[in-house]
Amino acid sequence: MNKNTTYDLDTLAGELATVLREAVEEAVPLAQQEETELRDLERVAQDKMRRVGQRFLELLIEVSRPEEEPAAISCRCGGVAEFERHREGKGLTTMGQIVATRAYYLCPDCHEGTYPLDERLGFRAGGLSAALQEALALVGIHLPFEIASEVFERLTHVSISDNGLRESTERIGQERLEAEQASVEAVWSGDADLPEGPEDPPERLYGSIDETSVRTDEGWRKPKLGSWYTTNEPPDQQRPEEWELRAEAISYYGDIKRAEAFGRHLYLTGRQRGAHRAQELVFVADGAKWIWKLVEEHFPDAVQIVDWYHASEYIWNVAQAAYGEGTDKAQEWAAARLDELWYGDFEDVLRAFRAHVTPDWDDDPARKAINYFQNNRHRMRYPEFRDQGYQIGSGTIESGCKRVIAARLKQAGMTWNVDGARQVIKSRAMYLSDQWDDFCNHRPPPRRTYSRCVA
Ligand SMILES: [Zn+2]
Repeated sequence: MNKNTTYDLDTLAGELATVLREAVEEAVPLAQQEETELRDLERVAQDKMRRVGQRFLELLIEVSRPEEEPAAISCRCGGVAEFERHREGKGLTTMGQIVATRAYYLCPDCHEGTYPLDERLGFRAGGLSAALQEALALVGIHLPFEIASEVFERLTHVSISDNGLRESTERIGQERLEAEQASVEAVWSGDADLPEGPEDPPERLYGSIDETSVRTDEGWRKPKLGSWYTTNEPPDQQRPEEWELRAEAISYYGDIKRAEAFGRHLYLTGRQRGAHRAQELVFVADGAKWIWKLVEEHFPDAVQIVDWYHASEYIWNVAQAAYGEGTDKAQEWAAARLDELWYGDFEDVLRAFRAHVTPDWDDDPARKAINYFQNNRHRMRYPEFRDQGYQIGSGTIESGCKRVIAARLKQAGMTWNVDGARQVIKSRAMYLSDQWDDFCNHRPPPRRTYSRCVA
């Protein structure tokens, strides 16, 4: 560690007091005007405090400099970079723009210039501080960029363009994306061990997978979402219509990518939650083939359950095709099949479907229902699942698709570029899985290499 510059605390406080004094001088007359309201006072106090904050931050950067700048430092190229001079650089922070004075070194061999203080602090002249990027991204993952930048400015008095806010949001999403990619590659290439998950794995862990759609400039794309969760208590012996879904400790993983690649991430996130050590692992999802293929590949021992509502939908489709939408007869017929399914009279359901098959109708709902039920028969053992107290509704992943994806990416008129959509999905999944702070706290600080021509 280098020895920091010694500063007299009184001198430092005095410097700050000068700025504070100016703020007071400017604000007091306003306070004494007849028509001034608290709203005006808050505004002026906020504005002046931000200026004091800027100066405070600048002073803190100043005192973090070494007592004596070394005459030379080692350069990345193996040569020796020599001290040239001190240079000022402006940077944007959560306090607004600040000016920092840093020592500049230049290597005569490779002509690369460096600012050791920038490297250490993560300061980037002409750039945004890490804390500002993270604050912008936090707003950008929740609000459309053009609204987000306005809201941010109103709350912080730091002005940023829509594009600046977008860039910060996408940057964090991209870093997350690359980190996830790197951990999958490290595990699959054998360079890293599989995560062991929490010390105390859950007794019963649920997993689920679903997909939704987002409009992009390459047409509609289908983001996939995986989730892991526990429940605090098993549901009552009631149909899921009557339950209150009690998913807890939900974590999400989302992306726009092919099922096979998605599966690797899903496997890894499952390991992180202790899926391989949970006493019971239960997957609840709709009957889509790609979903169960992934489950069988990565979690062959998991209990597999087809979502009760998806199964019900097939019954309703047959009822409506046979007896007309909204008719008493359709209602009666569907209710009888739902009872049969609920009590495990699977053959009776199939027989009832068969009675309504219309030959030569390509879209025959009865034939579709028969296929779906036969393919997923072992995932529809509802009486057995009920006895075990398993959840048989996939509401958690469906609300996950809304929370993680639809709420931000499917607003009216939105068209995304695919990279941007992936980045925002990554960030929202991370935020809603309670991993935002942890990720941001471990981000490498913004860095930049300087060469003479761009300095
Ligand atoms: Zn060099």
